[in-house]
Amino acid sequence: MAIKTLEVIRKRLEERPAELKKLRENGQKVVGWTGYNVPEEIIHALGFIPIRIAIGGDDRLVEVGGRYASSKNCVFIREIVGAFSENEDPFIQQTDILAFDATCLQNFRAAEVIEYYFKKDVIVLGVPRNFYWEEGKEYFGKEADEFTRLLEERAGVSLDLAKLGESVALYNDIRKTLKSIYSFQAAKDNVISWVEVFDLIQAVDLLDKKEYLALLHQTLAELQELQHNPVIEVDGNDARIFISGSLIPRGDRKLINIITSVGGRIVGDDIWTGILPHLDLDIKEISPAGVALGYLNRTPHAALPYLDLESDRRLKKLHELLAEFKAQGVIYHTLRYCDPFTFKAKETKDVLAKSAIPVLEIHTEYAGSDYEALRTRLEAFVEMIKIKAESAAEVTV
Ligand code: SF4
Repeated sequence: MAIKTLEVIRKRLEERPAELKKLRENGQKVVGWTGYNVPEEIIHALGFIPIRIAIGGDDRLVEVGGRYASSKNCVFIREIVGAFSENEDPFIQQTDILAFDATCLQNFRAAEVIEYYFKKDVIVLGVPRNFYWEEGKEYFGKEADEFTRLLEERAGVSLDLAKLGESVALYNDIRKTLKSIYSFQAAKDNVISWVEVFDLIQAVDLLDKKEYLALLHQTLAELQELQHNPVIEVDGNDARIFISGSLIPRGDRKLINIITSVGGRIVGDDIWTGILPHLDLDIKEISPAGVALGYLNRTPHAALPYLDLESDRRLKKLHELLAEFKAQGVIYHTLRYCDPFTFKAKETKDVLAKSAIPVLEIHTEYAGSDYEALRTRLEAFVEMIKIKAESAAEVTV
């Protein structure tokens, strides 16, 4: 049963590059951002058009990017650098200013390389390693002030706090609606799949935010009509898979396609192009520092070091989401040379082992050479989950 609004969104995404071009001809500026703690509301409130630069899945661009960045940078960063080198991505072509954060130092490296080789106007937001200390929070507040000042210079206007309040309210509504929609995909007799919701989430990165919110409300209304009360429960026929680890950007469908082709049903994720960045963002004060602090207080990114596993909010959130979406197995996916998530693989597996939830670790890149090997491993994993679920159902009976 197709959700009609999803078609509208797909069409709007196709039209968007030409629309951005026109808006720029009329004097508006587009800020392309990438990172994990970029306070997008500030960009929006200053009158810029924010779009997220998160692309992947093209091994050729990775190779091109490797000529500028180190070949030991992650494939995600190398592809972004490669895309700036070729300048063929319809969204990248429309960027006037770039905003990168330094949550992951590889992201910071991409900013340096792009500024140096492609002469782009790049603003970098510093991010504290000790994000849970008061001193770290104070530092990030000051970084947000400086980030705002640099954007104000480019906008030619000062940040109006009333406008910032409006942007925060708009983004809060988007996050709240996305969260409601997300629960439908994990429900029994779902009328929308995780893959469709994943696409829907990524559309926020590129569309006009007010229009996007209206389309989200329309999507939610359609879902509510088709499935009044979504109930999340295990169905004997499913292998309910949760995806964790490195981000999966626009254009990278390898892992998702394999999981679904071998009969896995994805029901949740905690990746940074999925639902996670939209959860638990509580902005208490309408100011650049207040917005930035809301970002920093979300589930921390794996690139930020935290050693106490008992109080690690990343692991706590993972457990919460696994329980909420009734996942039966975790695929922990790491991209080649993505050190933050690769370093955290062992501790994640160790912690999940205590909950007796099966974990499959996948290490991959955008090239297709490991496709068959991945398929074999994923097929066996999905089969094992199904057998386990069937045995549990028999015991219950
Ligand atoms: S977190 Fe991983 S994938 Fe993301 S920029 Fe850092 S190294 Fe690359």
